[in-house]
Amino acid sequence: MRTRGFVAGEWCRLCRNNGETFEVLSSHTLHADVVGTRLTTCPVLQQLMCDICGATGVLAQTRSHCPEGRAASVMLQLKKTERRSGRIV
Ligand SMILES: [Zn+2]
Ligand SMILES: [Zn+2]
Repeated sequence: MRTRGFVAGEWCRLCRNNGETFEVLSSHTLHADVVGTRLTTCPVLQQLMCDICGATGVLAQTRSHCPEGRAASVMLQLKKTERRSGRIV
């Protein structure tokens, strides 16, 4: 038996989370690295558009993976810090 080269972690996590059948989720991965760039290979994710940066298609990502979303949360933290330290009593 030499057919066990397929690692569970390489299956599409999005489809697995969505409760898709084994056939569907094992037929592709969520991302593929193409010449150093991480492209979305999941057809389900490709249909979605990021509501933060508008990325879609092969550039689509989930909210939690959005580079701009991460920047936004850092900004929020900075704002909070600013407010707290800027309060003059
Ligand atoms: Zn998928
Ligand atoms: Zn995004």
